[in-house]
Amino acid sequence: MARNVDENLLRQQMCEIGRRMWQRGWIAANDGNISVRVDHRRVLVTPTGISKGFMEPRMLCLTDMHGKHIGDDSGGFTPTSELKMHLAIYAARPDVNAVVHTHAPHAVAFSIARMPLPKRIYPEVEVLLGDVPLTDYATSGTDEVPDSITPHLTEATRAILMANHGPVTFGATLESAYQRMEVLEAYCRIVTLARQIGEPVQVPET
Ligand SMILES: [Zn+2]
Repeated sequence: MARNVDENLLRQQMCEIGRRMWQRGWIAANDGNISVRVDHRRVLVTPTGISKGFMEPRMLCLTDMHGKHIGDDSGGFTPTSELKMHLAIYAARPDVNAVVHTHAPHAVAFSIARMPLPKRIYPEVEVLLGDVPLTDYATSGTDEVPDSITPHLTEATRAILMANHGPVTFGATLESAYQRMEVLEAYCRIVTLARQIGEPVQVPET
């Protein structure tokens, strides 16, 4: 899809989103990854082995849509090992321009308990997120990961929980992908709290 974007601005925005992810406690050590579609044939992705809370724009890696690193290698940064997961989302969803993956604790807890998000208990949030599929388990960094999420990439999907791993959210812009992560984690936290103090009550079906 045609995109008229400033690559340097995207790099700065990715560093800012990484900083927010770290500050919110969603990524420990070098967890998590972010990507943004630069144009129809290139994506910017976060490097492996670096804390996403302390990235500099030069650290981000440019790849083609098949995962080939096409950026300047002089910095020695290597694209995230979860790049295939990001590319699978772009391949299935031309409307998506940004993907965010974190280990936000409450969302990860749902993925570990293999517990789908409940329905009809917090309508305002459920409207924002839509259905959030829970995948089968896949080993990180392997082809199993894109294979596990691809069947769930329908037109309406905005967020996916990967079993025993964590959430991935996506959207037309980096900000929207990030905000969906924020909403998903807040929702998982609220459901956890509600279950600690009582049994959540469903609203009537509309
Ligand atoms: Zn991960």
